Amino acid sequence: MLDELNRLREVGLYNNIPIIESPQGAWLTINENKVLNLCSNNYLGLANHPVLIEEAKNILDEFGVGPGAVRSIAGTMSLHKDLERILSEFKGVEASLALQSGFVANQAVIPSIGADAIFTDELNHASIIDGIRLTKAKRYIYKHNSVENLVTKLEEGKEYEKKLVITDGVFSMDGDIAPVDEIAKVVMEHNAILMVDDAHGEGVLGKNGAGIASHFNLHNGEVDIEVGTLSKAVGVVGGFVSGSEVLIEYLEQKGRPFLFSSALTPVDVAASIAAIKILKNDDSLVKKLWANGRYFQKGMQDLGFDTGKTQTPITPVMLGEAKLAREFSKKILDEGIFAMGIGFPTVPKGMARIRAMLSAAHETDDLDFALEKFEKIGKELKVI
Ligand SMILES: *Cc1c(COP(=O)(O)O)cnc(C)c1O
Repeated sequence: MLDELNRLREVGLYNNIPIIESPQGAWLTINENKVLNLCSNNYLGLANHPVLIEEAKNILDEFGVGPGAVRSIAGTMSLHKDLERILSEFKGVEASLALQSGFVANQAVIPSIGADAIFTDELNHASIIDGIRLTKAKRYIYKHNSVENLVTKLEEGKEYEKKLVITDGVFSMDGDIAPVDEIAKVVMEHNAILMVDDAHGEGVLGKNGAGIASHFNLHNGEVDIEVGTLSKAVGVVGGFVSGSEVLIEYLEQKGRPFLFSSALTPVDVAASIAAIKILKNDDSLVKKLWANGRYFQKGMQDLGFDTGKTQTPITPVMLGEAKLAREFSKKILDEGIFAMGIGFPTVPKGMARIRAMLSAAHETDDLDFALEKFEKIGKELKVI
């Protein structure tokens, strides 16, 4: 272990984990310094929202802190059922199952499906990769967002009876969106099952942030399985699977994290319900997120930065070499901007970047401050 830790330090892949000394929001305290936060997945600013806090406090007094058991024995409270109902309404699906996290949701659903062959985008999230590792299915990895390559792979694997196609909805490193409408078409033609992980789509895409199916107007079961998280735009922690009533009933019997790991706490559930209620009634936070994304991306492009192929408020700032991305991130932190440098192996070699995560929590003044500092360091490091 020590050898490996030293190796990671030598090659610059050692992850120094920042310690946050404040609640989530537009600004964070790190090392007693106030810094502008461009790192969180708190897209809508709900992680420290007064309505969620109020609901959490009420439920804390009423239901206590612990769930007491796994969902299948004594851990399913009426609250969990309320959350599942409101999630299903929000996503426009028959049924949903709440789980402990988005990561866990993938471990619950992928092995349970019992697919003979799995077709997976090469850039899918680690939790999908690990979920696939728990199966004995034949793996087909298709080129990122390439429907053509997916079709080639589906043809190659057409002798397999039960075929499962899995894609992220929004890819978090580039901010690009999977062509789920076209994917749904070829999945249907090949008699396969389609699963989309909408972790970065909920609260961001579609009507009132209902997610990727809403974004593409897919409302007739074209997406068989949706995985979601309560940990990003929803602002709390937890995950879920959405789909048909039969799928959810099946997962209640077969999903191992549902059967063998304790339920979400009452506070997580109550806060998540409050968040979904806000989203259902009011799209102003979603609108503000997108307005902030557009404003910041235009500002960066006008300065001469390359913001890659993003289609969402996720803003990659393409820099090339990992060393440059690290240096940029370090220098801009000294200027009061917390924005993560990301290099190989998280992204391909030569594609290192700073990733700026925009949020509805930001005000225009915050974004202007960020643009000013990006300009300063960009010029200093001769990026622009
Ligand atoms: C973040 C993420 C997850 C994990 O969600 P958690 O609720 O944080 O465990 C799963 N899938 C994708 C695509 C993600 O981006």
